[in-house]
Amino acid sequence: MSGNLLELSDIHVSYGRAEVLHGISLAMRPGSIVTVIGANGAGKTTLLNAVMGIVPAKGTILYNSAPVPHSVEARVAEGLCLVPEKRELFSTMSVEDNIELGGFLRNASERAETREELYARFPRLAERRKQLAGTLSGGERQMLALARALMSRPRLLLLDEPSLGLAPKIVADILNIVSELRTTGVSILLVEQNARAALEIADEGYLVELGEVKRSGPAAELAVDPALMESYLGSH
Ligand code: ATP
Repeated sequence: MSGNLLELSDIHVSYGRAEVLHGISLAMRPGSIVTVIGANGAGKTTLLNAVMGIVPAKGTILYNSAPVPHSVEARVAEGLCLVPEKRELFSTMSVEDNIELGGFLRNASERAETREELYARFPRLAERRKQLAGTLSGGERQMLALARALMSRPRLLLLDEPSLGLAPKIVADILNIVSELRTTGVSILLVEQNARAALEIADEGYLVELGEVKRSGPAAELAVDPALMESYLGSH
């Protein structure tokens, strides 16, 4: 027993004959935020999809020190939850109906309790609960995607580029919310192109390039790594 919540060993993923992940290994302690950073096309989304079971992967995925179940549904039932890059909200449904959908595996009293917690955490969504999701701003849509995911009471949240397309001030708000979620006990695997902001809130970081881990370590160390600064953090 390693005590890790998630442990990936030698993960390979191919699309047809093209292999895009070439043996990725990664470990996550319970209650931590781990960020996967890297350029467009590095394979970050593919890695999240492999953990969720959306794409088939070779290698070992241990969750709670046991092999993760095979199907996506079983992984959701075990507490994994993915917020995809495109958010995939139902734009013609209200905020509250979108949130409700996230709780489909939970019973009525769990849903009621979680709903109240969520509206306290996201007062903007509480104010807009009757509004159609399609009328929200970009930042509010990302909050709604997070809230819907949290309605499933996940243990491991997989976030794909939550800052994508948002203004810098809103990025900071969203990442603050992500950082605070750690206090609720949920662990977060955060994929980001916005490396600097992600490393600020993460415990550990992995730099992925062309389907391989190029660097990994405590986020605070990666944030001041000269080579990383040059390529990903914008040198000063
Ligand atoms: P982005 O930030 O652009 O999403 P990423 O780091 O998340 O980039 P992936 O989306 O995982 O990277 O893509 C990794 C590689 O796999 C890329 O070369 C991409 O073109 C390729 N790829 C992704 N999805 C598919 C697919 N469904 N079929 C074929 N190739 C794919």
